[in-house]
Amino acid sequence: MKLFNTLTSKKQVFKPLRSGKVSLYACGPTVYQSPHIGNMRSYLFEDILRRVLEYNGYTVKHIINVTDVGHLTGDGDIGADKVEESAKSKGVKASDVTKKYFDEFKTDMKALNILMPSKFAWATKYIPEQKKLVERIFSKKYAYETEDGIYFDTQKFGKYGKLGGLNKRDPEEMQSRTGVDPDKKHPFDFALWKFSIGPRLQEWKSPVDHKKMGFPGWHLECSAISTEELGQPFDIHAGGIDHVTTHHNNEIAQSEAAYGKPLANYWIHGEHLLMKDTKMSKSLGNVALLADLTAQGFEPLAFRYLVLTSQYRNRLNFTEDGLEAAQTALNKLRAVMAPRLKGGKVIEKYQKKFKTAVSDDLNTAEGLAVVWEMVKSKADVADVQATLLDMDQVLGLGLDKWKPAKVDKTVLELAEKREQARANKEWAESDRIRDEINKKGYDISDTPNGYQLFKRQ
Ligand code: AMP
Ligand code: ZN
Repeated sequence: MKLFNTLTSKKQVFKPLRSGKVSLYACGPTVYQSPHIGNMRSYLFEDILRRVLEYNGYTVKHIINVTDVGHLTGDGDIGADKVEESAKSKGVKASDVTKKYFDEFKTDMKALNILMPSKFAWATKYIPEQKKLVERIFSKKYAYETEDGIYFDTQKFGKYGKLGGLNKRDPEEMQSRTGVDPDKKHPFDFALWKFSIGPRLQEWKSPVDHKKMGFPGWHLECSAISTEELGQPFDIHAGGIDHVTTHHNNEIAQSEAAYGKPLANYWIHGEHLLMKDTKMSKSLGNVALLADLTAQGFEPLAFRYLVLTSQYRNRLNFTEDGLEAAQTALNKLRAVMAPRLKGGKVIEKYQKKFKTAVSDDLNTAEGLAVVWEMVKSKADVADVQATLLDMDQVLGLGLDKWKPAKVDKTVLELAEKREQARANKEWAESDRIRDEINKKGYDISDTPNGYQLFKRQ
């Protein structure tokens, strides 16, 4: 299996630390607002990564953290804590906010057929581990205290910014991303821990300076949780591409300064989902939620299909036409699966080709091309079904669970009329009937086994 490692900027043959086992850590959601489909693309990419690892015979220990404290507006060291701000504005407890949005996140994960991780690790459940890490970094003199917190001293850590080659870039440019905070010795320095200023809903006794109350910096939790759950180093650290610059360079600095060894061997990053060529992002106001798509009659799994059409390192433009095409393609695959035939055998030729494609840096676009090559071939339908089910372990389109919906009698009659029109080569009439079927809330797809009807949501 090959993966593009941001650490080396190369596609590398994947070798886990322990034979047959993979430790995988993925930066999870900050649970203060509804996840949008851009966020969900990242979790889909990580799900595909995990599924391809499992398809290659590995047992995967998969940790996703849940950020319920410390993530400040603007991702830097100044501004409000996103969870605190949301809870205070609503006059509720922090845990009311985090529970609500975590539940929404999990609902979206399930709808998208994303496998649940081995563990969701909540930042507030790892406060002792985070404090211990700060004390260790401090005792090794990689940190200093200011009025408002405990900061990591990036200038003492010679390798700062190695991820994505940032250390080779213009320092001026790197400075511009962090803004100026008069308390810091250097603009790249970042908060390991912040002291409470004014009343807070969530706060703890600070490490180092036990008299003050405070809370962990956002980057700290990922270092503390991943090491606690997976050891150091572990195999794969995954996340969205926007995390390379700051968040992941900071995680590396913290963990390597504390323990003098790498945090993770492979750093894998997924590209963004775009809306009209711009990153989908809450702050730009160009987001869509999964619920918006279902309200338009699309299924969550159609969005999953759309994501599969693009390899994770490519940006993907979200359009309604793209989603419509994905829904149609998904329905066609389901039509191939119905009726379910027994005794099919996996067709080795296509399985091998598919596995090679998806194992080459998760090239699901190529994997889908193999799927369609097989579906359009003259191969035995039962064998095609068996092979599709095998491939669906990676695709995750739920083909094993899918069952044709009950169809209204009038729609069935229309479908039969359309079959007759097609048999008589009356194409205009057949198209007219298709429109009528669509108007009644159904899609129709033609397969070697006849037609298949789908109820729109
Ligand atoms: P957040 O909850 O804001 O910390 O973001 C959760 C994850 O979603 C992070 O890994 C981000 O990289 C990712 N993300 C945010 N916006 C997008 C986008 N437009 N496309 C893909 N991933 C995104
Ligand atoms: Zn992280």
